[in-house]
Amino acid sequence: MNIAVAGAGLLGRLLAWKLLQLGHRVSLFDRGSRAGELSAARVAASMLAPYSEVASAERQVFDWGLMALRWWPEQITLLEQQTGQSISYGMDGSVVVAHDLDKSSLRHFEQQLQAKVPDHCDRVERIDRMRLRDLEPELAERYSSGLFLADEGYLDNGALLAALEAAITKLGGKWFEYSEVVSLAPKRIILSNETLAFDWVVDSRGLGAKAQLPGLRGVRGEVLWVHAPEVNLQRPVRLMHPRYKLYISPRPNNRYVIGATEIESEAMQPVTVRSTLELMSALYSVHSGFAEANLLHAFAHCRPAMPDNLPVLNCEAGLLTVNGLYRHGYLLSPQLAENALAMLAEQTENSVTV
Ligand SMILES: Cc1cc2nc3c(=O)[nH]c(=O)nc-3n(C[C@H](O)[C@H](O)[C@H](O)COP(=O)(O)OP(=O)(O)OC[C@H]3O[C@@H](n4cnc5c(N)ncnc54)[C@H](O)[C@@H]3O)c2cc1C
Repeated sequence: MNIAVAGAGLLGRLLAWKLLQLGHRVSLFDRGSRAGELSAARVAASMLAPYSEVASAERQVFDWGLMALRWWPEQITLLEQQTGQSISYGMDGSVVVAHDLDKSSLRHFEQQLQAKVPDHCDRVERIDRMRLRDLEPELAERYSSGLFLADEGYLDNGALLAALEAAITKLGGKWFEYSEVVSLAPKRIILSNETLAFDWVVDSRGLGAKAQLPGLRGVRGEVLWVHAPEVNLQRPVRLMHPRYKLYISPRPNNRYVIGATEIESEAMQPVTVRSTLELMSALYSVHSGFAEANLLHAFAHCRPAMPDNLPVLNCEAGLLTVNGLYRHGYLLSPQLAENALAMLAEQTENSVTV
């Protein structure tokens, strides 16, 4: 089939890549460049944290998240083989800490996990200073206890998006950069100066689909990227704090993504001074080595979210809509993409039978 993908962020790229592997012809339209600079996917910290997230989310987020932890390593290997590009990721768990005064936040978090995923609590380990020293030696001076979530991970989103771009190009996908999709309909993409016909259209525009997807809203998030030569963390670290929830997601060469604010606003303005101060003070309180870090970037974007903060998948003849990944894009996109492909296959089989 001849398929158009409107929006080449995370979902658009994943689906385009999979559809090309299935033998379809794919055209991708994005209002930005193929580097993905206008996507939430590019800004994300790309933590794979089903345990941490389920504390304030539905069980579905956890179950789909566990699937993602198996799916990404396989797919990353495949992408690396196809493109020769390497994508760093870690699946060695994450560490959760709290300052002594905030220990009740940590206890509450543990209780939430016990209530939400009682069947997986054997993977939530209480750790003391000795164990922390094994896992993250540089944190052991400052923290005497914490939690180890053995099944969590992260991936390098910049490298992943670049490799997907290369794989899509190699498999014959056609990129239409700087192409604003003004509107779309089953089998139709409407640009400012022409309407194009396809067998199917995939709407994966994230927040850009707001006019056509009732209930979709943006939830602003801000992240900082730092280079910290004096800090050596192997895995994601989360700080429990009554006001400033902070996570640190490692990248190669002592770079870290620090996140993230969560504000009920669709403002796309640059990161505010207030958020920078909050993130940075919390960061410095985790590890004093961050004092000498260089601030590389400060990014803001909006997470595309439905009223229940769960993903949406609609399929009508000629139009597949995927959206609402909220703060769980990397965690939920594997299952959502697989479900979307299955639904598309079922619809096209039915239409052939009819
Ligand atoms: C600060 C922050 C931190 C995050 N951290 C994490 C995390 O740690 N873990 C995790 O799993 N998720 C995280 N997320 C969430 C994740 O980034 C999103 O859920 C995910 O990117 C959504 O994917 P998407 O493909 O639906 O949308 P996007 O990635 O936003 O892609 C949409 C694409 O559509 C294009 N587009 C929009 N409108 C149009 C139009 N009219 N015409 C043409 N193109 C258009 C855009 O340019 C963009 O490229 C985070 C998000 C933010 C903002």
